[in-house]
Amino acid sequence: MPAHAVPLLQDLIRINTVNPPGDEGQCVAYVERLLSAAGISTKIFGLDDRRTNLIARIPGRGEAPPLLLHAHSDVVGVTGQNWLYPPFDGLLVDGEVWGRGAIDMKGGLAMMLAALLNLRERGESPAGDVVLAVVADEEAGSESGAGFLVREHPELFDDVRYAIGEEGGAGVELGGVRFHPIVVAEKRAAWLRLRLRGAGGHGSRLAPPDATIARLGGVLTALSGVRLPRHPTAAADRMLAALSDALPEPLAAEVARLRHDNVRDAVPSGLPLEEALLLDSVLRHTVNPTVVRASDKINVLPSEITVDLDGRILPGEFTMAGFLREVQDLVGHDGELEVLLEGEKVPADIAEPEFGPFYECLTGVLRKLDPMGVPLPMVTPASTDARLFARLGIRCYGWLPLRLPPGSGHRRLLHVANERVPVDALEFGTDCLTELLLGYR
Ligand SMILES: [Zn+2]
Repeated sequence: MPAHAVPLLQDLIRINTVNPPGDEGQCVAYVERLLSAAGISTKIFGLDDRRTNLIARIPGRGEAPPLLLHAHSDVVGVTGQNWLYPPFDGLLVDGEVWGRGAIDMKGGLAMMLAALLNLRERGESPAGDVVLAVVADEEAGSESGAGFLVREHPELFDDVRYAIGEEGGAGVELGGVRFHPIVVAEKRAAWLRLRLRGAGGHGSRLAPPDATIARLGGVLTALSGVRLPRHPTAAADRMLAALSDALPEPLAAEVARLRHDNVRDAVPSGLPLEEALLLDSVLRHTVNPTVVRASDKINVLPSEITVDLDGRILPGEFTMAGFLREVQDLVGHDGELEVLLEGEKVPADIAEPEFGPFYECLTGVLRKLDPMGVPLPMVTPASTDARLFARLGIRCYGWLPLRLPPGSGHRRLLHVANERVPVDALEFGTDCLTELLLGYR
């Protein structure tokens, strides 16, 4: 009996691992029981007992370097969200599994587990060892998850050259073509705080023209009206080239135009808005004001206002200093910028994505299992645990294939209400991963 991802995902959703607090230990215990029942040995590592990480090693034939599959077991919360079905019941409704984590990323973990169990069941061993890492805390900085493993137990990943994790995969439909993204590069976080200071005052009098609130208006207008300058990268260029090659006109020409366009003050036209924004986000650094703190008294003109900025730096050699200059130019020289967090940079020797035999293996699996689909090398504006595993010199690909129905909008359900995944998508993903484990060299 081949293993199926669906019942595994239902079980995983029912284990509440909302982070904070995470409590990923219960999920790890579940995976441990499941794998040991199949004769796969596991080891548990963690900063504390409630937030553990699991490592399983499935021996290979020694003909290829070990391959890492990494999945996070925590999920984001559901507070204030209005769900049609309960988020932690793992219900199967009309061919879809509902619940927090269905896509991000207990669905992916379930597919990995099913693929490993299938391999075991068939009595086949992969070309190299397969290392499965089920990690905690991805949704809140990875400190007790991948960060801890990479820092304290790098030996677990000795000789690993390639890794598969989240973010790619989920099919994107554009111009009637089904694309299967393979994430080859990620942007990194550059979270900032902008501080505006000025004279405070009494709310009963007219405010001076340089009041902090008036300047805040200018800053927010600048940040939302103009984009940061365009920076070409080889990875994004390859992504746009692959897209325009496969798309019908006039979309093909629109995407091709993006390769050279340097318009800063408007959203690119001709493409559906969501796709246009996504593509444009990986052609430049981005910055979004997300949190504004001012006075908490209605009758006080604030003497200080802070604006927290979710900034993202392009992959490659781009620096925080260069990014800060661009943001400062955009907001004018009003206010001081403070760096709250800088995401890890991928080491220089593996910063350029590799499109060699391993990548070809991923595209080969996709072409075999979905001949009508088009594999798409992708740069993602998000960042995942790949940034941490990359510190060990591991080339990470975001690849959890889900063949989603066209126009279904499942990708938009990450972190919001009604997250769910079609059974078909999970089975397709399990087949892809099984094929990868059997076929990679
Ligand atoms: Zn995730």
